[in-house]
Amino acid sequence: VNRIAYLTIDDAPRNDFRKKLAFLKLLNIPAVFYCTGESLMQKPDDAVLALKEGYVIGNHSYSHLHFSSLTFDQACVEIEKTDNLLKEIYKTAEKKIIRTFRFPYGDKGWGDDPENTQPSLDEKFFHKKIQDFLREKGYKQPEFPGLNYEHYSEKNFLEDIDVFWTYDCREWEYDQTDSMFNSILERMDVDDPGNWFGLNSGTSAEIILTHDHDETTVIFELLIKKLVSKGFIFKLPEF
Ligand SMILES: [Zn+2]
Repeated sequence: VNRIAYLTIDDAPRNDFRKKLAFLKLLNIPAVFYCTGESLMQKPDDAVLALKEGYVIGNHSYSHLHFSSLTFDQACVEIEKTDNLLKEIYKTAEKKIIRTFRFPYGDKGWGDDPENTQPSLDEKFFHKKIQDFLREKGYKQPEFPGLNYEHYSEKNFLEDIDVFWTYDCREWEYDQTDSMFNSILERMDVDDPGNWFGLNSGTSAEIILTHDHDETTVIFELLIKKLVSKGFIFKLPEF
């Protein structure tokens, strides 16, 4: 049985955006690009092109800061500035806007660690206020049919408005060494589905996290090919 992969590509659009887009089109692979406002200001036409090709452009804040380091007002500005850009970009592409959000660094307001199960009361309150703000702005948690990891749903990640991931390819830490290159590809074969390593032996659908960084485009393409060879079928979430 084929498993479903929902491909997400963060920090777009950068210099290799069109190269990645052409690669994905060739393999007929859909994806959601989570774009920062700063990058969209540089390359709005790239985002328009991707929308016209059927890809989804999501909000990844304006300047990619840790939300746990922001005040609530600053957090709202980070979301809203990119939301305004996206309104224009969707309009130019003549597409109905899809509002989907991902926090930079996966920092939902209590740091980078998804395993942080002990946020303080202040952090919980801050988190709720941002979630409410996203909801008011029209953002929604998409549906991910086939996604059934317990460690994912028990953290309320499917109820939160922002989109997290089930597998972080960690190609963003590639330092141009062969050893790192190999370890990024080899960790895809680890069998530990209950602990965020389910690509090889899990039974759930996966939300795959990759990035549009220039220096990792080669490894990006290999990661995608490896997912294809593992039997994953790529789909868009249901918005
Ligand atoms: Zn990012």
